[in-house]
Amino acid sequence: MSRKDDRNARRHPGMAGSFQCLHCGAWVALDPVFSGVQNRNHCPYCLWSRHLDLDTPGDRLSACKAPMQPVGLALKPSRQKYGPARGGELMLVHRCSQCDKLVFNRIAADDDVEGLLEVYARYDSDVEEAVVLACLLGRQPA
Ligand SMILES: [Zn+2]
Ligand SMILES: [Zn+2]
Repeated sequence: MSRKDDRNARRHPGMAGSFQCLHCGAWVALDPVFSGVQNRNHCPYCLWSRHLDLDTPGDRLSACKAPMQPVGLALKPSRQKYGPARGGELMLVHRCSQCDKLVFNRIAADDDVEGLLEVYARYDSDVEEAVVLACLLGRQPA
């Protein structure tokens, strides 16, 4: 594939199709119409991800490719200087089952809410439950 083709595929992620979840085997559509995010990298059903990115989300340069387990939720501080004081985006934290790398991922619009709450309940998290619920209920698809 030439560089130009590659860039076109990125601009139209729907054309790139879907990937199969390494953990539960579900087929996951990459189209942002469903997920509301670019660079969807985790399964909306079991929330497992895959170690694909090296430095920046979406670079897909990692050689690891191992499954990544959802290990908790965290609030990413908002970059807006004058935004709401309690601001911040709820992020899903994944840990690579192979190399232990920790990655923060944006939660997608079609992620399973109960699954996210399970992740919250199952693992240590420094986010208060009320904040988690507010973020999950208030999230806007796309
Ligand atoms: Zn899955
Ligand atoms: Zn890894």
